[in-house]
Amino acid sequence: MNHTYPGNVFCVANQKGGVGKTTTTINLAAALGMLKKRVLLVDLDPQGNATMGSGVDKNNLKSNVYQVLIGEATAEQSIVKSACGNYDVLPSNRELAGAEIDLIQMEEREHQLKKALDTVADNYDFILVDCPPTLSLLTLNGLVAAYGVIIPMQCEYFALEGLSDLVNTVKRVHKNLNPGLQLVGLLRVMFDPRVTLQQQVSAQIETHFGDRVFKTLIPRNVRLAEAPSHGLPGIVYDKNSRGAKAYLEFGDELIKRMKRESLRAMARPPV
Ligand code: ADP
Ligand code: MG
Repeated sequence: MNHTYPGNVFCVANQKGGVGKTTTTINLAAALGMLKKRVLLVDLDPQGNATMGSGVDKNNLKSNVYQVLIGEATAEQSIVKSACGNYDVLPSNRELAGAEIDLIQMEEREHQLKKALDTVADNYDFILVDCPPTLSLLTLNGLVAAYGVIIPMQCEYFALEGLSDLVNTVKRVHKNLNPGLQLVGLLRVMFDPRVTLQQQVSAQIETHFGDRVFKTLIPRNVRLAEAPSHGLPGIVYDKNSRGAKAYLEFGDELIKRMKRESLRAMARPPV
């Protein structure tokens, strides 16, 4: 592989719903696109929110990630352009909800996404996988395909407690299925610095995870929430909004972090 980084596939994961996974994946994809990186967004959630939020009609697809996972279509056949044009999308829709059942019967069922992405990996600098809000076989496929896990989280009271299942899953996948897997970082999203509790939880997260916490804080910003109904990432919909600026900064931080990471010994523990 001719990448600057040890791997270029990143899973955006958290088994909780509504924590900002899809918002992060879409906006990071567009941010990296603006920074002249070639980006593929993979929608691995049957809800297809990242697909629709990228301006791709999930109900009018030739094929989607479901057919790719079960070997009925290739990734190349199924990839489309996002409406804003600066990243590609491997889309999904509710057909993907059936994939668990099909996958269970397949050999190497955890490796189907990896096999598919290997065929297109050289066309991209970054491949970002938007995971469903479960620790299911779909998420497992994402983790097996990935180099890095990005966990978006809100700084709420039970935030750290809720992370332990995901962190343990990352450790298990690292041990048994994908020795290259790393927790690249935790991203604090929907952050409101005026709320004392959020500041306290944010500090706790830093103590606990150290340099695995991204410096960039994503604020709560209504423009980010409005954008999907226009089929655009918030960062394109209103590039002057606070949310847009934060996600652009995050894209920059991730690129810098990955450059450093490639110099670091691969023996680093996964979490
Ligand atoms: P998930 O994919 O984890 O379920 P989403 O990205 O869909 O989470 O976000 C859940 C809801 O919160 C959505 O309505 C989204 O528009 C909103 N949202 C996400 N991030 C922000 C933010 N930084 N500011 C304001 N609203 C946000
Ligand atoms: Mg989502």
